[in-house]
Amino acid sequence: MIEKKQPATIAREALKQLNVLKLAPTPANYQACYNEIANLPNVAGFPEAPLRQLSLALTARNPDQGTQLELLDTAIGQRSWQKVQDALVAFTGASKTGTPNGGNTAPVMSNECMTNLANAIENILPALGNDDERFSAQVAEFLQVLRDPSADAQGIEAMFADFSHRVSIAAEEQAEIKVALLKLLHLIIENIGELSLDDSWLKGQIDALLIAVMPPLTLRRLDDVERRIREVMFKQTEAKSRSMEAQEEMRMMLSAFIERLSMMNNSSNVFQDRIEKSARQIEQVKTIGDMAPLLKDVIDATRAMAEDARNAHDQLQTLQEKALTAESELIKLHLDLDQASALARHDPLTDVLNRKGLDEALAKEIANMLRKDAPLSISMLDIDNFKKLNDRLGHETGDEALVHLVKVAREFMRPADSMARYGGEEFVILMPDTTLDKGVQAMKRLQRELTRAFFLAGTEKILITFSAGVAQLTSGESGAEAIKRADHAMYMAKRAGKNRVLGA
Ligand code: GH3
Ligand code: MG
Ligand code: MG
Repeated sequence: MIEKKQPATIAREALKQLNVLKLAPTPANYQACYNEIANLPNVAGFPEAPLRQLSLALTARNPDQGTQLELLDTAIGQRSWQKVQDALVAFTGASKTGTPNGGNTAPVMSNECMTNLANAIENILPALGNDDERFSAQVAEFLQVLRDPSADAQGIEAMFADFSHRVSIAAEEQAEIKVALLKLLHLIIENIGELSLDDSWLKGQIDALLIAVMPPLTLRRLDDVERRIREVMFKQTEAKSRSMEAQEEMRMMLSAFIERLSMMNNSSNVFQDRIEKSARQIEQVKTIGDMAPLLKDVIDATRAMAEDARNAHDQLQTLQEKALTAESELIKLHLDLDQASALARHDPLTDVLNRKGLDEALAKEIANMLRKDAPLSISMLDIDNFKKLNDRLGHETGDEALVHLVKVAREFMRPADSMARYGGEEFVILMPDTTLDKGVQAMKRLQRELTRAFFLAGTEKILITFSAGVAQLTSGESGAEAIKRADHAMYMAKRAGKNRVLGA
């Protein structure tokens, strides 16, 4: 049991302790030593004055807080720590239910943040379609509120929740529309294919189209689809108008033929009448002298008839010749159309654009470049030592190497880029929105990619390299001029040792 010391003893020992611990002789230190020796809890004196100051510094923002401040004052007066603590805790709690914006203590976004949010929403709207007028009106109101610095935070929150619900529905709907449109496109393409199954070129195009519209769609693939559909449409229109012309010719010939037949019938009727009349008159003649003019009549009629028949024969022959010409024209038309791959925009071996396709793509990209005031770079690339590869492994393997190069390039290119076969083993790549530096970098990356993606000739790994020149179109420059500059840079890359990319 601990011995209870007298206050005077405790006071003495406390002073000693202060000295031993080398503590400053302040009342607080003295009390701490005293309490320790007296075995009392080390509680400092009640700081009434600072607490009153604190209470004065607090401002009540609502009636609840006012009550708590009064309770705090009473607690200070009673020197009760517990009640001070209770009053302060309740005071802070009361601020949560009585703030001016209705008690929402969630951090409110800055005006700038709200405006950015409004801009972001405006930017995504086109992707959601704007067929729903009520939704559009709702969004317009929401944007207005977001841009209003004095708008009520709770109202914004409610509108946001509503908006996000509508967006999720709209996004789902857009995704479904996309799938449905794709299905429709498939159906249309299949139908066109069935209509023109006799035409092998068209069938090839249709098959390529069906593959091209498989999801996932990229801008480049859609562009490809558009180009192919144009080819098909062009060919069909051409075939239709030519065959309609031929049909019209046939119809005219047929009506001329019928007319001729009826004329023949007519003339033979006239002949018949004349002969019958002459026959009747011959029955009645008495003298041979009377007979002579009648005979002349008969001979004339027969001659006229023969003449008519000859004319009819000639005319029918002409008609027949015309029909034959029309028929051979139709056959030629068919052949012409079958050679329409010359008109097609794609290279049959690699399936990238051919020269004609390149011309069109280039015109389109130049127009875009001018409209958007964006850069456009053109790269010309030529495979290194391709002749050797052909000589060593055969032309067919050479062809496969070309297909391999295109495959790697296409996987690597951005969706907006287009690739065209410019010549045997020369390709042009159009890179919209690309400066010269970026274009050169892209080609160098493609070179690295090709060293990674080996071309396999049987089991032999072949490294294909290329030299490339890149030119950025300057204002007023034609596509052909830029290609020429890129070609020259490519030539310089060859001269500098091949397997490199140079800017023009
Ligand atoms: P360089 O590095 O200087 O470009 O040399 P190269 O041998 O690649 O160039 P060159 O122009 O002398 O020869 C190109 C060869 O490409 C000639 C031809 O046999 C081949 N070639 C062109 N078109 C085709 C094609 O469609 N298929 C195949 N297999 N070879 C082709
Ligand atoms: Mg070459
Ligand atoms: Mg070459």
